[in-house]
Amino acid sequence: MDTCLGLALDWFRSIETSEEAELTSTEPEPGGADDVDGERSGHDVDVLVVGGGQAGLAMSEHLSERGITHLVLERHRIAERWRSQRWDTLVANGPAWHDRFPSLEFVDVEPDAFASKEQVADYFVAYAEKIGAPVRCGVEVTAVRRNTGAPGFWVQSSAGSLNTRFVVAATGPFQRPVIPPIVPPDAGPVQIHSSAYRNPAQLPEGAVLVVGAGSSGVQIADDLRRSGRRVYLSVGPHDRPPRRYRGRDFCWWLGVLGKWDADTPPQGAEHVTIAVSGARGGHTVDFRALAGDGIHLVGMTTSFDGGRLRFAPDLGENITGGDASYLRLLDEADAYVARNGLDLPEEPRARIVGPDPQCVRDPLLELDLADAGVTSIVWATGFATDYGWLHVDAFDENGQPKHRRGVSAEPGVYFLGLPWLSRRGSSFIWGVWHDAKYVADHIVTQQGYLAYGADTSGAAI
Ligand SMILES: Cc1cc2nc3c(=O)[nH]c(=O)nc-3n(C[C@H](O)[C@H](O)[C@H](O)COP(=O)(O)OP(=O)(O)OC[C@H]3O[C@@H](n4cnc5c(N)ncnc54)[C@H](O)[C@@H]3O)c2cc1C
Repeated sequence: MDTCLGLALDWFRSIETSEEAELTSTEPEPGGADDVDGERSGHDVDVLVVGGGQAGLAMSEHLSERGITHLVLERHRIAERWRSQRWDTLVANGPAWHDRFPSLEFVDVEPDAFASKEQVADYFVAYAEKIGAPVRCGVEVTAVRRNTGAPGFWVQSSAGSLNTRFVVAATGPFQRPVIPPIVPPDAGPVQIHSSAYRNPAQLPEGAVLVVGAGSSGVQIADDLRRSGRRVYLSVGPHDRPPRRYRGRDFCWWLGVLGKWDADTPPQGAEHVTIAVSGARGGHTVDFRALAGDGIHLVGMTTSFDGGRLRFAPDLGENITGGDASYLRLLDEADAYVARNGLDLPEEPRARIVGPDPQCVRDPLLELDLADAGVTSIVWATGFATDYGWLHVDAFDENGQPKHRRGVSAEPGVYFLGLPWLSRRGSSFIWGVWHDAKYVADHIVTQQGYLAYGADTSGAAI
């Protein structure tokens, strides 16, 4: 509760009885009169925002600007995942000038530097204070159901229940760690997900296999190698942009080239992970350099049998694919410079791609974990969503949210912060702010419809 702002709506404060105040509300009468005004309608708030990370705060800012009563419920602390679900040395992948909301700069981080995870979390606490976000921390939303015979939703939480007209699910793009069922839990090595990795000392002595070569996998492998561990890194298909090119960070290049705004790929299209790092002042992720530092690269991890792990023979192809994405961005950047007559220093050396290391030329296809002394596996293999609390008709047969730009298939329910919600930038700090604006506008429009006729008939649509 230490970062809980204890800020809530006035009506809400008035029913609080203590720090751990219960939310209390009466379930609406089926068919009861209703309008968009919270008090008259029996709705405690117009909008309930579930989750107090960056998405929940962005939503709060836009709702406040539009004068919409709302409450943000966060089960832990503001920006909790940045505090307790990231490794110790993690810094933001983008520079401080970029990875932030428009109306607040980092005070303690130089614009071109990379904020530590604690600085990012502190930034969001400061942001919540700045915008006076009505956040209640330590309250978990356990169930949301559509009211029957009355508009809106009935919300149950660890602190009681309330009634809301709209619900925004801002519970994160990365909710439930996913570990592919390849190595049985009792196979020997300690197995953890990247979200549980903190530092090398947490793992038993011995070599470590890191599976996954997105930003998390490469950074964790590097962290372990620098502590003196023997490390194997299982590399799948990836993109790897240059950290800086011609004096500009890749975040800038993706911005001017319109790539952050790239449209959501069609459902089922293959998602390619992106390998970037802000560690140690920021550097281009270069798998050859990682191999040069002593990390043994292997292909995709495919199966496990009799203590032996097998890897696909795709390492060379994956490295080449990453190189191609890197060189493509340099080409596009050069074309942009030429087209706009910019005076940015040429950087021909950036195009030099070194020779493949031995582990790429002659890739390991099998590894006996005991012989290799592998005592731990860190699975940097991504996340799934978990909306077990949201009992509405807004999911497809695979449990994935059905929505368009966050506006769900269930009227009144919104999703925010999901990868590719509207564009590439949607799950990133700066991108979610723009998506929240769209969702807030949608809610205002809906409120307009719902208010129509309320004055004369006493009931909204
Ligand atoms: C390792 C890693 C590094 C990243 N680095 C960057 C970066 O450098 N730059 C960048 O822009 N993005 C980065 N991201 C992506 C993104 O910015 C983060 O994932 C960010 O945490 C997403 O914010 P969010 O508010 O959408 O979700 P979250 O931060 O996940 O916040 C959701 C909140 O909802 C709460 N919650 C969940 N369920 C409930 C419930 N039922 N009731 C109440 N509360 C609930 C959770 O406690 C949590 O605090 C990174 C992601 C990862 C995994």
